[in-house]
Amino acid sequence: MKKIVLALVVIAIIFVGVQFYFPDILYSSTWGQRIMLRLEGDQVAEFYFEGDKETKDTVYMKGVIYSGTLDDIKEVLQDNPELTTLVMVDVPGSIDDEVNLAASKEIRKQGVDTYIPKDGMVASGGTDMFLAGEKRKIHQTAKLGVHSWGGGEMAALDYPRDHKEHKKYLEYYAVMGIPLDFYWYTLEAAPAEDIHWMTEGEIEKYEVVTSATSKLLQNQKKLASDAFGGRATGNNLLAQELITSYFTEIGLGKFDDDYKQPFTFIDEETKKQRTGTNIVGFVEGTNHTEQYIVMSAHYDHLGVVNDTIYNGADDNASGTAALMELAGYFSKNPPEHSIIFAAFDAEELGLHGSTHFVDHSPIPLQNIILNINMDMISRNSNNEIYVVGTFQYPEYKSMVDKVSHDSKLNVSFGHDDPTDSTRAFWMNSSDNGPFFKKMIPNITFSEEDHPDYHKPSDDFENIDPKFYKNVVQLILEFTKEIDQNFPKAQ
Ligand SMILES: [Zn+2]
Repeated sequence: MKKIVLALVVIAIIFVGVQFYFPDILYSSTWGQRIMLRLEGDQVAEFYFEGDKETKDTVYMKGVIYSGTLDDIKEVLQDNPELTTLVMVDVPGSIDDEVNLAASKEIRKQGVDTYIPKDGMVASGGTDMFLAGEKRKIHQTAKLGVHSWGGGEMAALDYPRDHKEHKKYLEYYAVMGIPLDFYWYTLEAAPAEDIHWMTEGEIEKYEVVTSATSKLLQNQKKLASDAFGGRATGNNLLAQELITSYFTEIGLGKFDDDYKQPFTFIDEETKKQRTGTNIVGFVEGTNHTEQYIVMSAHYDHLGVVNDTIYNGADDNASGTAALMELAGYFSKNPPEHSIIFAAFDAEELGLHGSTHFVDHSPIPLQNIILNINMDMISRNSNNEIYVVGTFQYPEYKSMVDKVSHDSKLNVSFGHDDPTDSTRAFWMNSSDNGPFFKKMIPNITFSEEDHPDYHKPSDDFENIDPKFYKNVVQLILEFTKEIDQNFPKAQ
């Protein structure tokens, strides 16, 4: 209590002084100012343990990182080899960046996790230290701040990107496995004398916290990177390798001893025969082993057209990464029904992969109780996702209603009634089509077209991580609902 009063007095004094000399800075941001002022007046970082637990696995940290922090951290780590978690309660910044980065590397070396608790506040150099956590979590009410740096007359953005002043930070983020975009983003987010509080979407996007959903975004980003060349059929080996190695890692079952299911088709434009490759794995059900849900997403896109890469981040790296995510979930949490995870090829050329699948199904078609298809699910300016197919299969409507009740999305129905002239008919527009033709019930998750649809600008930078995460959550809940309360045919 006493400490707080003291800190307030210090703030008040500096406040008056600053107001006199720099009135315009003073009003730039309440929070930013408080941090700047407190760095001068606040206590230096201290580490402490709470309670009288035998195992000292959690250490708490409060205060500004300073020249002594490296030695303090080394001591804490050395004295407590059982330490797993650093809780950063209130770390508003650092007054010695060299020490901060060195201390942070020590944290990572020992594989300690970082956590910002309820109402916690970490900013600036404190944020850099937070990123040293092997696993990183932030409480919903906690704040994480970033800003640019400056010294003398120069601000960070005044230096060219390849200038040595940027190097130590870039090297640090590389060591921590944080996307380097994060660094450039912090420089733009707020000037040195201000602070930007990261939004939930930004925290997701820059992989600031580690979680299953970060893996989702990582996979989407990889699939949509230039290195993957736009994933055109016949030229998407890297995407195939990413999906198969993930299926292997999570231990999905294989049909015919291989995830890869090659097929041939006639290209509608050239009339020539071409080859595509579906990637298919499954998780066996614990109860209704012979009944299958087929989850699907096409992983192919347009590739390189006129020397321009069409990355297809939304179409359909989003559905593909979601498919991988859901496969990972169900491999750890076995469903009652068996679930097939199918990454289809050659969708963009005419639904060829899914057509091949239903024509050469590894299981009898009558054993497929439902196809859940995902195509373009990572952005919509109205926060709206369409669930397509309930007009044809009304028995699923109430199940969607049930799980969308708690969803943060606008869940809409439609695009599935051929007599509705106000909306395009999507029952044959994606990989659900071949299932529909074979009279296999199917539900597709997809959003309305956006300005970057089938454009080179359908890039990872333009997706909405929060929306995407919510859609994947909705699909997961829907699939669990189907699995546990499958509507019995009358
Ligand atoms: Zn698509």
